[in-house]
Amino acid sequence: MNVDRTIKLKLGVSEEDKPTLKKTIILFNTVFNEVAVYGFEHKTNSKVSIHHATYNDIRERHPELPSSLVQGARDVACEALKGVKLKNLPTAKPFAAIRYNQRVITYHLKHGRVSIATINGRIKATFNIPKYYQEYVNWEVRSSTLKYDNRKDAFFLHIIFRKESPERSGNKVLGIDRGIVNIAVCSNNVFFNGKQIKNVRAKYAFLRHKLQSKGTKSAKRLLRKISRKERRFVTDVNHCISKTIVNMSHDVFALEDLTSIRVQSRKGKEFTRKLNNWSFYQLAQFLEYKAEALGKAVIYIDPRYSSQKCSKCGDLRKSNRKGSSYHCKACGFDMHSDLNASRNIAQAGISCLSRLHVNQPNVETV
Ligand SMILES: [Zn+2]
Repeated sequence: MNVDRTIKLKLGVSEEDKPTLKKTIILFNTVFNEVAVYGFEHKTNSKVSIHHATYNDIRERHPELPSSLVQGARDVACEALKGVKLKNLPTAKPFAAIRYNQRVITYHLKHGRVSIATINGRIKATFNIPKYYQEYVNWEVRSSTLKYDNRKDAFFLHIIFRKESPERSGNKVLGIDRGIVNIAVCSNNVFFNGKQIKNVRAKYAFLRHKLQSKGTKSAKRLLRKISRKERRFVTDVNHCISKTIVNMSHDVFALEDLTSIRVQSRKGKEFTRKLNNWSFYQLAQFLEYKAEALGKAVIYIDPRYSSQKCSKCGDLRKSNRKGSSYHCKACGFDMHSDLNASRNIAQAGISCLSRLHVNQPNVETV
């Protein structure tokens, strides 16, 4: 199975190359429009017949646009005509995103450099791949789209990477309990505690409180900046935790389906709840797509009772749990309550899997 990932990179382009790149985009879109008009008027979206009818004329009128880009614009226009079934005329705005095929763009991903064909030869641009996207450096580049953002006066590349993901080799299940004190507790006794996140959030909460009471314009701007920073911090932590988890020796990661209890758990302050929800959700998303690339899977289980049930004997009693400790009144079993929950999640995952794969009863815990 193929796995595709799109990443957006901001390009570093020198001031003297900017006008060249802008003109290239405008000219590409001009050619797109010319080709679209021809196809629309002649009721065809065939790349071959449109090529024969328009190519020489376009090359003559716009000799500065490299032929690969002319062909690229034609291909995109033909696809657009096909997309609207020739019913109306597709048009591109001057700064619409343009497609670069591999002949007109060369990546040096490891060095953060790219060379791009323009109306004035090739130009060099630079970029930074965030550390959690580094793995894509070894994937195959499938397509590249260049976009100019007028408001920011900046160029962005959208790159689609592809990798063939391996087949899942086994059904070894890891249960993961997500929480606030501990961001994630895994059924193999690995804890990811939230102390660092809690401290950083407390720092931001304090700053936020101070700024809110000010109420000035600059305070509001600073507030927005703080929220972005806080969000980025939580995102980094989630990237890091999910990466560690998917690289454990397990094949399937079981999580609670929180969408079903979200409505019930309106405890605590509104703000905390919201923040936690997106962060819980984000961790699950990261786990899903990082697992997919490794040929592993994430499954969701019914979250009822996972924190109340004894993972040893199955006794179900709310009073067995007191904060972070779980003590079973039926069999005397003692365990950290989050770890007990993660064990229950793993067990639920195993029974869920065996329902799905009756042919592969090869399951084991932790
Ligand atoms: Zn028990």
